[in-house]
Amino acid sequence: MRNSLATELLFALSRPGRRAARFPDCDVPLQPLDELVPSQHLATADREKRPTLPELTEADVIRHFHNLSTLNMSVDTHFYPLGSCTMKYNPKRHERLAGLPGLVDLHPYQRINDQQGMLALLYDLQKMLAEISGLPAVSLQPAAGAQGEFAALLVASAWFRSRGESRSRVLFPSSAHGTNPASAAIAGFECLQLKEGTDGLVDLAELEQHLDENTAVFMITNPNTLGLFEQQIEEITEKVHAVGGLVYIDGANMNAIMGITRPGDFGGDMMHFNVHKTFTGPHGAGGPGAGPIAVREELSEFLPGPIVTSNLDDDGNPHFQLEDPPRSIGRVRSHFGNVGILVRGYCYLRTLGPDGVRDVARHAVLNANYLKSLICDLLPVPHGQHCMHEFVASAARLKEERDISAMDIAKRLLDFGFHAPTVYFPLVVPEAMMIEPTETESKRTMDAFAETIRTIAAEDPGFLHEAPHQTPVSRPDDVQAARHPVLSWTPEDGS
Ligand SMILES: *Cc1c(COP(=O)(O)O)cnc(C)c1O
Repeated sequence: MRNSLATELLFALSRPGRRAARFPDCDVPLQPLDELVPSQHLATADREKRPTLPELTEADVIRHFHNLSTLNMSVDTHFYPLGSCTMKYNPKRHERLAGLPGLVDLHPYQRINDQQGMLALLYDLQKMLAEISGLPAVSLQPAAGAQGEFAALLVASAWFRSRGESRSRVLFPSSAHGTNPASAAIAGFECLQLKEGTDGLVDLAELEQHLDENTAVFMITNPNTLGLFEQQIEEITEKVHAVGGLVYIDGANMNAIMGITRPGDFGGDMMHFNVHKTFTGPHGAGGPGAGPIAVREELSEFLPGPIVTSNLDDDGNPHFQLEDPPRSIGRVRSHFGNVGILVRGYCYLRTLGPDGVRDVARHAVLNANYLKSLICDLLPVPHGQHCMHEFVASAARLKEERDISAMDIAKRLLDFGFHAPTVYFPLVVPEAMMIEPTETESKRTMDAFAETIRTIAAEDPGFLHEAPHQTPVSRPDDVQAARHPVLSWTPEDGS
């Protein structure tokens, strides 16, 4: 429970003369404001009417901002099963390490000899990402997954041009994340969306029908946004290669497969990592992120620079420098990329090591399958008997039988102290609820979440339509959206 003081504005809490600190008496003559600022620039010459600042004690201010910070949900306060874009584990130790003075006080314009520590770290990170992806050349430049997609598509474009080819089309399945077509369009390609098969996977016949000498890139997320591993990934990549196209792997779901299989091994030519998702970078509301890309050797000379390279100095010690690849598409971000997030990713990988990385993937998959088994009788999961790190359940039956929508459940979960899962995405599942528990959640938390879903499903639908009831802000005008979800969406809408 919160009392009314917790949500009042600072101006309402203000009382004349309240202070957080007491200053010594002024020992210089006071300068009237009108003498410092010419009167025509003052909002009002009337001293009484001038805007004032709230007058408050220290406790007023601390409580105000602290209370505001607790009105939100976060990974530090609540279970956060948002699918696909999940904020993963954010180890507190990483904050201390990323905040080491030697790292934060470094300036990118310092002499290269003074930056050797940071460059060694970034060099190792490039190597680790190359190992995890099975693709040898890495650029740490892009600041997010979406920017990685964009940069890699420019690399593909430059590569085709260097071979005298002008391929103009990018294909992707309809379960693709919206950034895939957006990146392709901004990179100057035309986009074609393919319907997946009834099993939620790429339909080989449909793919084959649309592949031709104009196909530049096939973008595929594996495991896909339905939480399914594309079983025929090798046939898929072979078919794309057979017409001379490239395969882009959207690596947002790498936490399900890292250490177990590698995009480079199943035929991917390029990919991005979302360091902020897979490798613990704390993020939310759009950043900060890091979206390094990894590519095959033959594409490496087009990568955005600088790349950290190493050779041995006269004493046989490694010396690091920054190099722009010979035919680089240029820079997509200043300096070495979003270093603060890259450092956290590095810490995570060094902490876990190869076996730990594999365990993360195993536990992510185990947890998702456990949670799925607890709720799939109530919220059926249309695709796949087993899922990878996430699953997409459907509230369509509940909607039909009891008029309870995915939106109603999502909103009501907030009252019970659970962040909502991703809803109404991917579009191929009606009343979709995309749930990703992540590898760090305990059985107890998942049991409680499943139990709450059951409680909600038994509640009065009218009451649920108005949920949430306990949060500082009730349901905004997306009530309308909830009554008319995007069920009627078809790929032809192009929306
Ligand atoms: C998050 C996500 C992206 C975009 O990554 P950002 O880092 O948010 O730009 C792309 N594809 C999938 C499947 C994602 O989940």
